[in-house]
Amino acid sequence: MPAGPHVPSISYIRNALEEVPGAIRFDDPSTDARGSGADPALAVWISDPDRQSNVRNAMGERPAVESHTDTEDSSEAMADNPAVAFEIPPKLTEADVRDALGDELAKIEQLSQLKGADAYGWYTTFHQKRFQHGVHIPGEGVLAFALDAFSHLDLSLKRKAELAFHAILRHELFHFNVDCMIANWELATGAAVFWAAKERHRNAHGYVPLEEGLASAYMLRGFKHPSRELANSGGAYETLKQFCIRQPEGYADAAQYVKSRGQYLGLNSYFDVCCELSVAYGNAATPAWRPPEALDALLFYPDVVRIDWTRCPIVILDEHGFLDALGVNVAFFRTVCDIEETERFAHAFKKLDKSIQDQWRISVSKLALSTSLNGLGFQPWKMDGADYYSVNVGGNFRAHLRYDRNGSKWFAEAIGNHKEMGHG
Ligand SMILES: [Zn+2]
Repeated sequence: MPAGPHVPSISYIRNALEEVPGAIRFDDPSTDARGSGADPALAVWISDPDRQSNVRNAMGERPAVESHTDTEDSSEAMADNPAVAFEIPPKLTEADVRDALGDELAKIEQLSQLKGADAYGWYTTFHQKRFQHGVHIPGEGVLAFALDAFSHLDLSLKRKAELAFHAILRHELFHFNVDCMIANWELATGAAVFWAAKERHRNAHGYVPLEEGLASAYMLRGFKHPSRELANSGGAYETLKQFCIRQPEGYADAAQYVKSRGQYLGLNSYFDVCCELSVAYGNAATPAWRPPEALDALLFYPDVVRIDWTRCPIVILDEHGFLDALGVNVAFFRTVCDIEETERFAHAFKKLDKSIQDQWRISVSKLALSTSLNGLGFQPWKMDGADYYSVNVGGNFRAHLRYDRNGSKWFAEAIGNHKEMGHG
């Protein structure tokens, strides 16, 4: 066994599932065949674990960052959510977006009456081989969600789009988590589960109500206990809760499952219902395999509280060209390399303690691996202007970086303690 964290990669899991008869199918007519992200000109890949062999090997081990990079945050955990920015032309209004989406908006809204949150994005299982597995979020889905769920909030369109993206992503990531949970049943018992389980529990509209309720509960939990990306979202949680309640069977139960533990006014807790779903699916194993009741079925999920999005392919699609037509740009950088230090930066840098200077070099080497490493706190920094990003330098210092689009080049513009840098 490899040393250190060794959560197996999905490609490794899939190879193992090939040995379980009936676990993986080539095709399934009910599998979503909407956009695949195959055309790189029309897709922004937020996470692409299969193709990041330089970042992870087959067993999903994260590369050891040089030992001197041991900071106060020694865990190399990934940030809870990817730092995706939607750049929206300042003059673009919600009415403009409505006009541009036109019939497509009506189509999505109609679909949401049948498929709830999955009208805005979708997850494709790795239990089939024909289509790219993972989370797919079309640009028009993000914009439609922003209009449908958040139109009454006093936030910029840009912020609404970002919240919409994270909401859809969290819902779909829960489906990824369930896919992994089922794979664990299959690997543990040697019996196929996925296809029989979905067949058994699907309703007339083709989805499993309990799974949808939990997926939307995971979405809501992200807004109730917000991480950095979702903080300061001005009433988004309440609005989103109401939005869920208006959705179809199963999806509408999300708010009941938000609380982690314990019975409350007859409502079910998130952990209990996650467990219930795991048992329901596990019991569909063919050939039949019934676990003893003492088995904790919650253990089959990799993590129900914090789903590691970097293990799941995530792609934002613009196959109908709506983002392009509206001038909306999706900014996401998986790595930041070859940072040039400006004179202003060098001037401030010279005056810093050697320990801080060392921390800066650590941040630089981490950024070259992944902007999503948790300790980096990499995020857009709009106070300094568009294309500015902030990164942690040790616990107390921050550096501001600027991305020059024309030259596709990064500049370190400023460094200082978090107060001087305007981080309050
Ligand atoms: Zn769903």
